[in-house]
Formats: sequence, C-alpha cells, structure tokens
Amino acid sequence: MIIEPKIRGFICTTAHPIGCAVSVQRQIDHVVVKGAVESARKRVLVLGCSTGYGLASRIVNTFGSGADTVGVSFEKEPSESKTGSAGWYNNRAFEKRAEAAGRIAVTVEGDAFSDAIKADTIAQIREHLGQVDLIVYSLASPVRTDPKTGEVYRSAIKPMNNAVTSKTLNTGTGEVSEVEIQPATDEEAAATVKVMGGEDWELWIAALSEAGVLADGFVTLNYTYLGSELTWPIYHKGTLGRAKGDLDRAAAAIRKQHGADSAYVVALKAVVTQASSAIPVVPLYGTMLIKVMDEMGLGEGTIEQIDRLFRVKLQAPVALDDENRVRVDDWELSKTVQDEMTYRWPLLSTETLANLADLDKHKAEFLRLFGFGLGGVDYSADLDPRTVG
Ligand code: NAD
Repeated sequence: MIIEPKIRGFICTTAHPIGCAVSVQRQIDHVVVKGAVESARKRVLVLGCSTGYGLASRIVNTFGSGADTVGVSFEKEPSESKTGSAGWYNNRAFEKRAEAAGRIAVTVEGDAFSDAIKADTIAQIREHLGQVDLIVYSLASPVRTDPKTGEVYRSAIKPMNNAVTSKTLNTGTGEVSEVEIQPATDEEAAATVKVMGGEDWELWIAALSEAGVLADGFVTLNYTYLGSELTWPIYHKGTLGRAKGDLDRAAAAIRKQHGADSAYVVALKAVVTQASSAIPVVPLYGTMLIKVMDEMGLGEGTIEQIDRLFRVKLQAPVALDDENRVRVDDWELSKTVQDEMTYRWPLLSTETLANLADLDKHKAEFLRLFGFGLGGVDYSADLDPRTVG
C-alpha cells in the first residue's frame, strides 16, 4: 500500500516504516558525529523507549556510550493492511542498527504499568544484561491501570482551582483563538497523579531491587517539564504539574533507600512529541519557542536535548538545582529567550503567527514523528506495512 499521513486531531494514525527508520538513523548520526559520550553505565533500561525523549535516551546511551539496552514501550504491530505505531517501526529500526553495531538491544512491548511486563522485563535483564546501572523512566501515557487494584485511572490536563483562559493554536489550520479550560475536580487531579506521578517509577525500582537486578551504584532518571509563566496556568500549576511534583517526592524516597546519588528528576525543554502535542496551549508556545530559539542560535530538538543531558549535564560533578533536579531546560528558560517569548505572546494572533512563530517547522517535526516528510524516502512506493527499514 501507499502509506500516507492520516491526521486526527493531535495524532497521526498511520506511520511510515522507512521514514521512521530514516528518522532513527538521523538521530544516531547526530550522536555519532559528535563523538563518544563518556559513561561507565553500560547496562541500561529505558522505560518508554520507542519515541520522543525515551528513544533519544536509548540512542545516546547505545551509540554514544556503547551501552547494551533493554527497552519497554507500548505498541501496535503492523498487519498486511494496516501500519503499526511509529514506535513499533522505531523499535525495529533501532534494534537492527544497535545489533549491527555489536550492542545488545532487547525490547519488551506491552503495558509497563503492569506486573506482568515488569516480570518479563526483569527476565530479559537477567538473561541479556545481568543487572542494570541506569534506568531511564520516560513513559508518557494518558491512562494507567493500577496493578494492585485493577482500577483504571485517566489523566486530565486541566488547571487547578479556577478556570483558565488562554490563547491556543489549531495546528491544522493555523488559527489562534482563546480557550477557556475548566478546572479539574479533586478526583481528576488525583487520577493524573496516579498516571503521571512517581508511583509507578517507585514500583519499577522496587521490583528491580527485589529481583536483584539493580547494580551497585545504579542511577535512575525521570523526565519533567517545568516551563515558564506562559504555560504555568495549564501545566506547572495544573494537574500535570501536580503529577510532576510527585516525581520529586518519589526521587527523594528512592534516594533515601538507595543512596544520595541514585535518583534524579531531569527538567527538559518543550519539544514536539506525541505526548506534548496533546497538551492544550503547549503547541502554540512550542511553535513560538522554535522560532525564538532558532533565531538566537539556541534551537534544540529531542535528540539534541538528550545528547546534551548525557554528554554535558550528567558528567561529574553533576550540577543540581535547589530541588535536586538536573536542568537541561536552562536555554529555554534563560532570561533572553523568555523575555522575547513574553514580549511576543500578547501579539500572537492568526494574522501574526507566521511572523512570530514557526508553524511550518512545528508541523514538519510533528509529521517526522510518524516517519513522514523525511528526505530520501520514496513516499510513492507501494509498501508492505510490515516492512522493517
Ligand atoms: P512520547 O509520547 O514521545 O513517548 C512516550 C513513550 O511512553 C513511548 O515510548 C510510549 O510507547 C511509551 N508508553 C506510553 N504508555 C505506555 C505503557 N502503558 N507501557 C509502556 N510504554 C508506554 O513522550 P515524550 O514527550 O518523549 O515524554 C517522555 C517524558 O518526557 C514524559 O515524562 C514527559 O512529561 C517528559 N517531557 C516531555 C517534554 C516534551 O516537550 N515532549 C518536555 C519535558 C519533559
């Protein structure tokens, strides 16, 4: 079949096998041309390994530091007539390239929140790595089934306490409008913490510890977004921010049990991923951030951020903020960038968008998440969706 993008709201329901492979290869190239990334941690577990920041973390550790990896992600397999998820193609493309480079790359596909997938992952670690010395937690999910009670929790991305009115962008049409977002109920806020807070991270570390597969001196990272005042009403001070705040609690609990250097929350910049596309207001902020940071020569995408995290920020001595977090959002939140963002924000409208923000690049980055719009790919080719690139 000829595989084309089918966009429904903020997701694309198709993915291109060859395009996804080219995108993985480009990320590998980005790391390889910059040279080796120093790290003693050669046995790595990446939770949420197939797209976005998790995939970039797996790539940097494998191709920068020569690590062997076990990855976990949730995917849809392709069939003869339907494409798989972008993450499925990314996983296959990554494994193929990692193995060609002489690295172990094992992927477990299923619900990382479940006890069964934790047990399966531990079995894979035992068999292929023995133990792990780095665990990257990069899951982003709208739903979680509590493994103990079977209860299903859904996150709600809403403000706390009061309704918030903000500008927002229809990325399909380029229309900037005002939205009013009603505040979350207490139940919705609690459910969001259940899904995106630190509980599952702690359960993973406890399960790995109990199974004896955590190496002495291991470190675990979990990714957060703090952002600036422009997004605080919907993000940092909303339900998601509350859930992310719970990561700081969980990190402290892991450090108490496993040592002062065992767990860090890492604050990253806003980039275009499947998860960030679903958050109201963030795509508008993101399109303007791309333009402002590019103009200042500070532009970074997903792989650039994670490369800088491991190549620079995690090299000893690791600098931490007052909350013990590693900050790779320093350029986004620098005064120069935020002064310009704050100046432009009130001027944003459907008419001014093209001058003040970069919707074309944002759209192109979104399509690339699904393997579309990459140079050198023949998009008119008749392909079996089960092709591995
Ligand atoms: P993403 O959507 O690209 O990746 C999410 C990953 O989680 C995928 O590999 C997916 O398969 C996996 N996943 C989802 N549900 C799962 C489940 N039940 N079981 C197993 N795997 C599952 O998201 P992302 O934007 O890379 O987000 C990763 C982390 O980075 C999140 O904690 C997010 O808050 C954080 N972060 C993102 C941004 C941003 O702008 N995108 C900024 C700062 C921090």
